[in-house]
Amino acid sequence: MKNLFTKKQYDNLKGYLQSAKHVAIITHTNPDGDAIGSAVAFSLILKKLNIDSDIIVSNDFPEFLHWIDGSDKITVYTKNRQEARNAIKTADLIFCLDFNSLSRIEILGKIVRETTVPRILIDHHIEPADDFDLKFSYYPISSTAELVYRIGTKLLETKILPKNIAEALFCGMMTDSGAFYHSSSYPDFFKIIANLLDCGVEKDRITHLIYDNFTENRMKLLGYALSKMVVLPEYASAYITLSREDLNKFDFQIGDTEGFVNYPLSIKGIVLSLLLVEKDDHIKLSIRSQGNFNVNEMARKHFHGGGHLNAAGGKMLCKYENCKTELEKIIKDYEKKLHDT
Ligand code: 5GP
Ligand code: MN
Repeated sequence: MKNLFTKKQYDNLKGYLQSAKHVAIITHTNPDGDAIGSAVAFSLILKKLNIDSDIIVSNDFPEFLHWIDGSDKITVYTKNRQEARNAIKTADLIFCLDFNSLSRIEILGKIVRETTVPRILIDHHIEPADDFDLKFSYYPISSTAELVYRIGTKLLETKILPKNIAEALFCGMMTDSGAFYHSSSYPDFFKIIANLLDCGVEKDRITHLIYDNFTENRMKLLGYALSKMVVLPEYASAYITLSREDLNKFDFQIGDTEGFVNYPLSIKGIVLSLLLVEKDDHIKLSIRSQGNFNVNEMARKHFHGGGHLNAAGGKMLCKYENCKTELEKIIKDYEKKLHDT
């Protein structure tokens, strides 16, 4: 398997870990399967190395991830502010997983900036910020969970992992590759998946827990969202907008709109898909594309966000009533690029 990181990086990491007594592991806001899977797996790996850690996130994560062993110990800032703050303030080493800039973790970023301890990044997003003392950053890879697998097996000096670690890693690799649909077209990805199965991962059970765990309301919200989708064939684009009122009608629970943005890409000829969801003080955007249309660039330029080549996110600060007009203006600017994809 190709080495993604240098001996010096690993030596530095081991040096930091040797003097660490209590570690904070932080992952991104609106945590997804890769965020939670990689953070929990990394925490369990540190435990095997006799290092204690806390996992801290800025807001809650969806119920379809609650089966992950150890996810119940995660400290959620919005539910337990003092505990989250203390966990960061008392850590002697901070790991940042599955995001590439402290601006991505909102209030937690401010708390991290108030500390002076080393910060280590493990992440697969393009163009990491200068916020870290040591970076394990590699973007042409499926997931942060895959990086944690590669780093963790090096630290533990074995590929034989306990089932709970293997399942958390499997969760990250599966969800971030859209259930092996994208970002996974290289043999090492499947070699790692094969090894995780060898470690006892029950693939069908986990798949079922993640993908067949929706409420009736969530399915109906999906149907409603698709029924109001706007398709712009002349721009090879489609988008869905959901207002707070729409969400309330279907008793919205966190995580319910996860995956919605992928559906418009199944339409023949559509290469750009956007989902706009009204939040308290902004509109949250999810953006997906096919081929070489770069949504990371689009999110950075227009939506205060970022992400990957084909999956990115960000926000719009206009009123919900105006978001369609604003969005269509931006899409029209990309007409040539959309047709060249
Ligand atoms: P999602 O649409 O699933 O929320 O996010 C897709 C990808 O874009 C993820 O890799 C996520 O980390 C990234 N992303 C989502 N929202 C933001 C944002 O507001 N800022 C940045 N920089 N990246 C984001
Ligand atoms: Mn990820």
